[in-house]
Amino acid sequence: MPGSLKTEAIVLRSIRYGEADRVLHLYTPTRGRLGAIAKGVRRARSRFGARLEPFLHVHLVLHESRGELHTVTGADTVAGHAGLREHAATLDAAARACDAVARLFETTEPHPEVFHLLANELELLNGGPGHATPANGLAFRLKLLLAAGILPQLSTCAGCGETEHLSGFSAAAGGVVCGSCEAVAFPLSEESYRFLVSAIGSPLAQAPAASALALRQAERAICETSEHHAHVRLRPLLRTALSESGG
Ligand SMILES: [Zn+2]
Repeated sequence: MPGSLKTEAIVLRSIRYGEADRVLHLYTPTRGRLGAIAKGVRRARSRFGARLEPFLHVHLVLHESRGELHTVTGADTVAGHAGLREHAATLDAAARACDAVARLFETTEPHPEVFHLLANELELLNGGPGHATPANGLAFRLKLLLAAGILPQLSTCAGCGETEHLSGFSAAAGGVVCGSCEAVAFPLSEESYRFLVSAIGSPLAQAPAASALALRQAERAICETSEHHAHVRLRPLLRTALSESGG
C-alpha cells in the first residue's frame, strides 16, 4: 500500500542512474532488503546527496511505490563511517560484508539481527584497519549463516552423531563429520574446527586468530554451506590475502 515509510537503513550499494539520480540497495531492520531511487542527488545543490553513499547508516523517509523502487524523500545520517574510506583494507572489507548481506538476504523478509550485525561490523571497520582481517570477515559470515538458519552443525558428527574424531566437513551432510562419515567431506583440521566454534561464540570484535590453512578450511566450510543450503555463492575472502603465503 503506497504511503510514507520511515526506516533506518544501511546503504549496501549506490548506483548512478540517469543524469543526476542514484539507485540505492538498502538493508533495513524491519523490511529486509529494499531498493530506492534518490532523485537529483548527484547535483551539487542536493539536500542529501552525501548521505546516500555506500556503507552509510541513515534514517530515511521513503515514499513507497507499488513497484520495485521506493523514492527517497528525506535522509539523515546516523553514522557516516568516514574512517572506513581511509584504508583500502577497511573499504574492501566493508564492501565484502555488504555484498554478503545482499546475497544471503535478498528479500524483504525482516532480519533485524542481520541489520545490527552489519551496523556493528561497519562500526568496527570504521575504527581502523585492525579488524579488517580474514578472521573477522569469516566470523561475520558465520554469523550471517546463523541468521539465515543454515549454521553448520559443529557439536557432533552431522552424519552419525559421533562426538569424537570430527576430522572432516561436509556441507551436504550439514556440518562437521567423523572419520567414518568422511566419504563426501574435505579434511578439517582441529585448529580450523576450533576457529569455527570460537568465531560463532565470540563477539565480532573478538574474532579468534588462526593460521592461514585453518582460515582457508573455515572459508571453504562457510562457502560450501552457503552454496549448498542457500544457493548463494559468496565472494571469496581469502584468495587475495593468502595467495602470497602459498595458498
Ligand atoms: Zn559420523
